[in-house]
Amino acid sequence: MPANDDSILASYLPDIDLAPAHPEPCVPVMPANDDSILASYLPDIDLAPAHPEPCVVLEEPSLNEKSKDRTWLQVGSVRLLVSDKQLIASSQGLLNDKIIHAAMLLLKIRYPHQAGLEDPILCFAGHVAVAPCNMSFIQVFNDPEKTHWITVTNKHLQAGDVDVNCSSHLDPSPQCANAISRFARVSEPTMNLRVINVARQSDAYSCGLYALAYSVALVAGKDPCNLVFQQDAMRQHLIACLEKGTMTEFPLQWCKTVRTRVLCVKRHGVLCVCRSVYQGKEEMVECQFCRGWFHPPCVGLDDASFRKHQQDKKKEYKCPSCS
Ligand SMILES: [Zn+2]
Ligand SMILES: [Zn+2]
Repeated sequence: MPANDDSILASYLPDIDLAPAHPEPCVPVMPANDDSILASYLPDIDLAPAHPEPCVVLEEPSLNEKSKDRTWLQVGSVRLLVSDKQLIASSQGLLNDKIIHAAMLLLKIRYPHQAGLEDPILCFAGHVAVAPCNMSFIQVFNDPEKTHWITVTNKHLQAGDVDVNCSSHLDPSPQCANAISRFARVSEPTMNLRVINVARQSDAYSCGLYALAYSVALVAGKDPCNLVFQQDAMRQHLIACLEKGTMTEFPLQWCKTVRTRVLCVKRHGVLCVCRSVYQGKEEMVECQFCRGWFHPPCVGLDDASFRKHQQDKKKEYKCPSCS
C-alpha cells in the first residue's frame, strides 16, 4: 500500500455513498413514478453524486436497502445510519471510523479540555496534531496493516513514552507508529511505544469496542489495565450511549491487579520537524550542523535544491533551527 496521506485517507472513507440514484447526465427528467415519490419522503438518502458515471445503469436499491440508509442519529457533524446501528449490534461487526468519531465527539462534550479524542481519520492522515507539544492526550487510531483499533495515550508518562492499549497486545505497525508520532508531536529523539497489559478481546471483531472502553476509562482517570469488561454487553452499551448522547463507562466483569503493566516497549527514532518515524524509504536531507534529518518539503526545500545538496558534497545543508 503506498504510504501517502491521500491514499490512506481514501482507504478510510468507506461510508461515503458515491453511487447516485439517477445522475443528471443520464436522466435529465425523472417521471413521477411511485419510486421517486417514495424517494421524496426519504430525506436522509444522499442523492448528490460526486462523479456520476453517465453510462452506468445503477440498480435501484430495494426498499429494505433504503431503510438501512436512513439516519439513525446525528452526533455533531457525524450522521450515523440505521446500518451503522446494525453493524454495532452484530456480533461480527467491526466498528467503522464514523462510529468511533461519533463516540469521540460525545466524550469531547463531556471532557472538553481533554486533548485528543479526535476524528481517527484526520489524525491518521496527519491533519490533526496535539498542540502544544507534549500535552496529555487520549486518541484512538486504526492500524491499517492489522485492521485494528487501538487507544494510545501519554497521560502521566515521561516525554517520549506513549502507552498502547490494544485488545490483542500487538505492536503498532510502522505506518501506525508514524501516525502516532506525528499526532503526538513527540519532541524527544525517540518515541517508546509501550504495549499495556489490558484485558484482551475474546473474538476477532471487538477491537473498536475495547478501544472506546479504554478511552472512556482513561478520560475518567482510570487505568484500563485494571479493568475486565463484559464483552457480551459492550455492543448494547455503545448503542445506548450513542442514543442517550453521552458516553459512560463500559460495564465491567471485574477489576484486576496486574503484576506486569507494560508487556513490551518498542523504540522508534523520531525525525524532522513533522516528528515522523523513519519508514525506511523516504528521501531526507541531513543538517550538517545539528545532524538532524529532515524531509525536504517539511523544511521548504524544493526538489532542485535538494538534488543540488545531494550531488554537491561541499554544499552543506543548514536546517531552519540552525539557520
Ligand atoms: Zn517531515
Ligand atoms: Zn540543524
